[in-house]
Amino acid sequence: MVKRLKNYINGAFVEASTDRYIPVHNPATCELLGECPDSTRDDIDRAVKAAHAAFDEWRSTPVLSRAQYMYRLKNILEERFEDISRVVVEENGKTRDEARGEVRRAIESVDYAASVPALLRGYKVEDISSGIDETAERQPLGVFAAITPFNFPFMVPLWFLPTAITCGNTYLIKPSPQTPLSMDLFYEIMDEIDLPEGVVNLVHGGVEASQAVMEHPDIVGVSFVGSTPVAKIVYETCAKHGKRVQAQGGAKNYIAVMPDADMAASVANIMGSAFGCAGQRCLAGSVVVAVGDAYEPLKAELLKRASALHVGYGLEETTQMGTVISATAKQRIEGMITAGESEGAQVALDGRSQTVAGFEAGSFVGPTILDGVTPEMSVARDEIFGPVLSIMHAEDFDGAVDMINQSRYGNAASLFTSNGKHAREFKYRIRAGNIGINVGVAAATASFPFGGQKESFFGDLHGQGPDSIEFFTDKKILIERWL
Ligand code: NAD
Repeated sequence: MVKRLKNYINGAFVEASTDRYIPVHNPATCELLGECPDSTRDDIDRAVKAAHAAFDEWRSTPVLSRAQYMYRLKNILEERFEDISRVVVEENGKTRDEARGEVRRAIESVDYAASVPALLRGYKVEDISSGIDETAERQPLGVFAAITPFNFPFMVPLWFLPTAITCGNTYLIKPSPQTPLSMDLFYEIMDEIDLPEGVVNLVHGGVEASQAVMEHPDIVGVSFVGSTPVAKIVYETCAKHGKRVQAQGGAKNYIAVMPDADMAASVANIMGSAFGCAGQRCLAGSVVVAVGDAYEPLKAELLKRASALHVGYGLEETTQMGTVISATAKQRIEGMITAGESEGAQVALDGRSQTVAGFEAGSFVGPTILDGVTPEMSVARDEIFGPVLSIMHAEDFDGAVDMINQSRYGNAASLFTSNGKHAREFKYRIRAGNIGINVGVAAATASFPFGGQKESFFGDLHGQGPDSIEFFTDKKILIERWL
């Protein structure tokens, strides 16, 4: 029996008010895993009403009691760690270890949320004028929502929900209809921790549901994570409807390698960055800029290691790279490789004809390396979001910095070097939100803010860390004089 997913509203799983269901397939086996409702405006309205009604009582629940729910949640997530990781593999196609890493990161966000009682502190100054004291206190705002992508179906929603509710808000998640099963399982777990009804809600769906979130008058703020074109729509629409918004968009992450870098260690890191999660990470290295004499040894080592990667089904522990998300994504990625080739790039390693025995219909794209890529080519400019690494060549450090700063994206950039001056210059001059020095995936941990620059981020307060406390609360000023 294929599972028909339900929404989770006001403390119960309920059927969506739609007859449109989107099939969810395992991208490796093509097995039908479930059917995701394409929920309507009415479903969003129902969830927001529940969250709105729950807000007053929830915000006045002592913050220490709100934090206790995070400890309960963490315990169940640890117990169900392997089950959750399995669901992530089945619906997303990544490897088991990648899914485990994702779930671990999600739990770290729960840990952070448990420390909200300390983070909610305001501040006070006595005698701001004679006999007058001034205080800033943080207050929750109401109903917040997240619209999330397919690539980290479990972790990304948890960047937001735990902190938002521990701050005293109520919450709604609209996950990707390509990977809705992780959140279905998460809300089963949320049901077990016995939060008051309406504090957390889940509505599945696509564009109609997203639109309803962006426009609903009782949602005060939206966190979006996804592609840049949609991030722009979300940023503009939410602003038009008077909401707080943080919209994390797409990426094109560059990695520069200096001739003085430790080549073996650098390549090991670059491999993880470019081909981990089959290149479907917003922090994936997509272009490697070889500086000066680094070019020949870097290219040789990358080709050697990439051609040895074992591509297969993510549930098999020996698999080093899984599938991309769907047949449509596979077709799009292969089309971008072909476009790069026709613009003059050499396909040094071609993943277009990748097949995996026993999974012939799976959406596999093998590791691909394009050489001789130049800044004007589409493969240097556009997000591919697949296991495709372009090699560019810069004469010197300044040339590499210029190449990287030409990108319209600014999510992440890395430098591999043994020279501290270059490392400092890179961090100082590169216009990207996350910088790695001898690190291929510069992923902020839960207590640091995460977000990019330029077309990779629209808003001001980033996700996670202290920015999330700012985003999920307002500072109210109290000025007191007692006669
Ligand atoms: P997507 O933009 O297609 O979808 C993201 C979410 O938006 C989904 O919930 C989807 O249902 C919804 N959506 C799609 N079209 C919409 C529309 N027209 N109006 C309103 N909502 C809409 O992204 P995706 O393919 O699921 O995810 C991959 C993208 O996400 C990549 O571009 C990747 O770089 C990006 N991403 C960014 C970060 C980051 O932190 N910057 C993290 C993860 C992924």
